[in-house]
Amino acid sequence: MLVKQILMSKADNKVVTLAPGSSISDAARMIADKRIGAVVISSTGENVQGILSERDIVTELGRRGPSCLSDTVDEVMTKNPVTCTVDMAADHILATMTEGRFRHMPVVASDGKMIGLITLGDVIKARLMELSMEKDALEGMIMGH
Ligand code: AMP
Repeated sequence: MLVKQILMSKADNKVVTLAPGSSISDAARMIADKRIGAVVISSTGENVQGILSERDIVTELGRRGPSCLSDTVDEVMTKNPVTCTVDMAADHILATMTEGRFRHMPVVASDGKMIGLITLGDVIKARLMELSMEKDALEGMIMGH
């Protein structure tokens, strides 16, 4: 299973982005409105400058309290996040996310432009479907169907 197949299985490949200089409260509102877990920080909507996840916001709130909400995302985001390309294998993405302890990965083309975003949930869903199909095929072979 490749990243391109995971992207194809998603209903919507538009990535929610916010421009650098936006406030953390803008990001929190965006995350709540869109019911997502992270927002990519990008000045053009295509270049990946950073990623800000709900965990970053909660961590900052816990450290500094609500005054952090008026700060810019630039200070809190993870800069230059790990990205992947469409020809990478789902197993490799799972290993990278597990080792890096993050659940979101922007997908970029060879020129570095963002073309989608996959989450740990997308990868697990795709792998489970693949395993179920393999199981059915093996059962069919054993039963002679
Ligand atoms: P998450 O599990 O995606 O909510 O993120 C946990 C932490 O990892 C947060 O500090 C994020 O900013 C950071 N993070 C999220 N995605 C990535 C990524 N693709 N590369 C590097 N760090 C990331």
